[in-house]
Amino acid sequence: MRIEEIEFWLREQNAQKLAELYKNADLIRKENVGDAVHLRGLIEISNYCTRACAYCGLNCDQSITRYRMSHDEIIKCAKEAVEFGYGTVVLQAGEDPRVTQDFIAKIIKEIKVETDLAVTLSLGERSFDELKAWKMAGADRYLLRFETSDKKLFNLIHPADCSASSCDSTPTSSRGLTAGSRDRIAILKELKQLGYETGSGVMLGIPGQTYQSLANDIILFTKLDLDMIGIGPYIKDPNTPLGSGALAPYVNAEDQVPSGENITYKAVALTRIMRPDANIPATSALATINKANGRELALMRGANVVMPNLTPLQYRQHYTIYPDKACINETADMCKDCLAARIATIGRTIGKGQGGRK
Ligand code: SAH
Repeated sequence: MRIEEIEFWLREQNAQKLAELYKNADLIRKENVGDAVHLRGLIEISNYCTRACAYCGLNCDQSITRYRMSHDEIIKCAKEAVEFGYGTVVLQAGEDPRVTQDFIAKIIKEIKVETDLAVTLSLGERSFDELKAWKMAGADRYLLRFETSDKKLFNLIHPADCSASSCDSTPTSSRGLTAGSRDRIAILKELKQLGYETGSGVMLGIPGQTYQSLANDIILFTKLDLDMIGIGPYIKDPNTPLGSGALAPYVNAEDQVPSGENITYKAVALTRIMRPDANIPATSALATINKANGRELALMRGANVVMPNLTPLQYRQHYTIYPDKACINETADMCKDCLAARIATIGRTIGKGQGGRK
């Protein structure tokens, strides 16, 4: 599909036409990655963050209770993933310099020695040396969303590092990045070069995001040959500059991408059509805005991955990247059973093994 055609579909409102798009995406999903839904156990290992991302409820200016999980706590969660039959754990955090190269490398090695899990990292914009060390320690995959391919908008919503005294972090420069370094596309290329299965993605409905730039995001997914693509609705957090309206990028009303469910299904379906063999999650942000069946609908319209939360309950409530997050009070065990039932209801199976890109 050319960019104009993608934009046309993103703007489409006719339910019957969209039903055809979804059917097509579902067929392509079935032919290329099959009926298995792969489960990735998400462990939110730290909510400390040095960055001031204008949309994120973990940014350094937020007065929230901060936590950092210990080595043993993380390993315990990974063992739970094995017990639950998940093939992958995802270690995610804010950009926390105290989540050091050695700390993560040791954890990766231990998980790799003691389990058959694939290890995915989602630790933000880290230095080449860190990414390399973690690959050598055995990490399999890395997730770093580019959020939007519109450079001006990206720079606007990703201001320079935080200097708030409350953020309990050392400056960015000390972790081998120049302050304000934020070329995520370059980092994605480095990840590919290092041999990671590489994941990226975007938020939908960021104020200032146009249909054309979103169509361009989908083209970029193919250009970067991404292995994993996460697409979720932007959810307003009223405590953040973007959510409060303090930062309000201007764009013509008719060009502004809406946030919400429908645009998410369209973007997921189009991404499946453009990237037939990629792993595409039904995201937690989507599950948050449609708790009843957002995940199921995404799985029926192109997605093939779900990321059940393994973070211990006492920490999970503080990993508030956006408000009213789904599954915040469920235990890991409850998440497992709930997802198994949802997947069975739509006639799909739970994937076995690591479920990497074929
Ligand atoms: N610090 C890591 C992990 C961030 S959380 C990193 O920067 O990569 C993972 C994703 O959550 C982000 O990439 C972003 O796309 C999404 N996210 C953050 N705030 C959000 C919000 N308010 N609404 C929806 N998604 C959000």
